[in-house]
Amino acid sequence: MPYIAVLSQHLVNKIAAGEVVERPASVVKELLENSLDAGAKRINLEIEDGGKKLIRITDDGCGMDAEDLQLAFTPHATSKIRSDEDLFAIKTMGFRGEALASIGSVSQVEAISRPAENQEGYRLTIDGGEFTPIAPTAAPPGTSITIRNLFFNTPARRKFLRATNTEMGHISDQFTRIALPATSVQFILTHNNRQLHHLPENQSLIERVGMLFGNDMAAELMSIRRKDRGVEITGLVAPPSRSKPNTQGQYIFLNGRCIRDRFTSHAIREAYRGLMEINRQPIVFIFIALAPDAVDVNVHPAKAEVRFADSNLIHGQVLAAIRDKLLSSDLSRPLRGADSLTPSSFITADEEEENEISDNKQRVRQAMADFFRNARPQPPSVNPHKNGSTGNLGTRAAGRMLAKTSAAENLSPWENRGQEARDTIYTHSGEPQTISPINPEELTEAPPPHRFMQVHNAYLVAESDDGLIIIDQHALHERILYEQMHRRLQEGPLPSQRCLIPEVVDVTGRQMAALEEATELLAELGVTAEPFGPTSIAVQGYPAMLEKTNPADFIRDVLDVLSEQRGKLTREELLHSLLDTLACKAAVKAGDPLTDDEISALLAQRPAIDRHDNCPHGRPTTLRLSRSQLEKEFKRT
Ligand code: ADP
Ligand code: MG
Repeated sequence: MPYIAVLSQHLVNKIAAGEVVERPASVVKELLENSLDAGAKRINLEIEDGGKKLIRITDDGCGMDAEDLQLAFTPHATSKIRSDEDLFAIKTMGFRGEALASIGSVSQVEAISRPAENQEGYRLTIDGGEFTPIAPTAAPPGTSITIRNLFFNTPARRKFLRATNTEMGHISDQFTRIALPATSVQFILTHNNRQLHHLPENQSLIERVGMLFGNDMAAELMSIRRKDRGVEITGLVAPPSRSKPNTQGQYIFLNGRCIRDRFTSHAIREAYRGLMEINRQPIVFIFIALAPDAVDVNVHPAKAEVRFADSNLIHGQVLAAIRDKLLSSDLSRPLRGADSLTPSSFITADEEEENEISDNKQRVRQAMADFFRNARPQPPSVNPHKNGSTGNLGTRAAGRMLAKTSAAENLSPWENRGQEARDTIYTHSGEPQTISPINPEELTEAPPPHRFMQVHNAYLVAESDDGLIIIDQHALHERILYEQMHRRLQEGPLPSQRCLIPEVVDVTGRQMAALEEATELLAELGVTAEPFGPTSIAVQGYPAMLEKTNPADFIRDVLDVLSEQRGKLTREELLHSLLDTLACKAAVKAGDPLTDDEISALLAQRPAIDRHDNCPHGRPTTLRLSRSQLEKEFKRT
């Protein structure tokens, strides 16, 4: 008997299902695409238990007659391609002809369909790949497909399904990606009998974006358009002041299909370069249209990735389309006028300023980096003292630091600092640099500095008894707040401040799911918020220390952190990264002018920073220049 056996068709389907059907959201995607391909004008999607129990789609598309209905669930049956040439000129969403067959092999399906020209419809049921004979039934024109108990016969896969909220978050995500560009079609999404979306037919793109993401955001979007060298780029882009901590606000559509593409993502990032904080991401909705033969959509089972014939061309066009818009728009002035008194634009004006200043900050940093690099420090080895470098630091305090660091690691303090330092200022050439992040162990014993000043509303320069220190005011304050909150949390939840009128915030399905999962965690941080309608939440309380910040912005950032980190982090780690967001929001910003009292309060708190606690970014807050280093630079020694 041969060892090798040809697998049964049933088994082949089950294996194929693994490729196309990963979770309920993948089923939803395939079904929605099929309905659009069928020319539906109205699509109704009902979900129960995150799709684990039931997914039902009803459309008014072209329908299928008895024969086609049977064929639809047969592998490699498709009405969309007939020849090789068709494969390279795909104009529909589906074409592989394997989605329905795969779905039918791992769930319990009931499909009813009727082409408008027929008097009656047909009904087909499939139970884990087993067909029952097709039978006539009364039905409206169009197709209705119900999927029950996904993966009921593949326990290994069923086990990997996540909590209802998580799966529903993925479904909402897919729904958004497909419904967003199909603005002429009506979509209704219901979960456990609660209506989440009702998108009317024949909307404009901006109306649809408003319904899916909130009208306040949509109101700020700028439209882009560029047609050149066979590529057409259109879409909506948010001003840099609207940003996200992750790429979840970026939607890229190629010929109407939502895709991921790293060239395009890179182009988007590049377009906002210098206009946005390094760790923030732009919000954009980009539509790329090009001839079907200029792209291969057949490289990914769920068609989420594509291969462009000329990816540099796409990169260049996307970059140019966005960049031109950003550079030709006055991104700041309209937000500063009299109308800046309305709460939302007021906040935006602040953020806008912050962006400008961060630009400035960037330049100052660069200038400082250049300065210190050009200062060409003497190598430590010229020094006659212990480890060849004590003399570089010279003072009592530095001596203490030296003793600690070099006892801990068998490195000279220079090397040691070089290793700790992660900021570009320190790491240009791998050579020892003249300034270093301050060692907080030393700080706890150091007396507060005597004289200080603020420069560029961003840095504090202070005299220390060993030389001078330069402090990034935002970074320092952020760390102090982080430590304070961290300590405060040991005693119980952070103080919360009740909103007089609950603040209603528009959220995405993912953010909603994240909120529902993390209610208790958020309460510890002083945040109380609950669902308020299908796509918005009401914030009733938020951390008292954030009184000056806009609760809506804060809560959206928090929900982004939560939805991105779900399942990846332990509760403790999640709490840390939320504290981090909180501290960042509450801290003084680069660009905030500080009074002398504020500065000395800030400086006085420096010693409280405990090095051994988590420093989430690992960024230094303080640079230091010792007297002996100064003397060396000025060739006094
Ligand atoms: P593909 O979409 O790649 O062709 P599917 O397995 O998703 O493969 O669907 C198989 C076929 O079933 C489609 O080509 C189409 O002819 C038919 N079909 C699927 N869903 C619908 C629908 N909602 N309305 C009309 N026809 C449909
Ligand atoms: Mg399909």
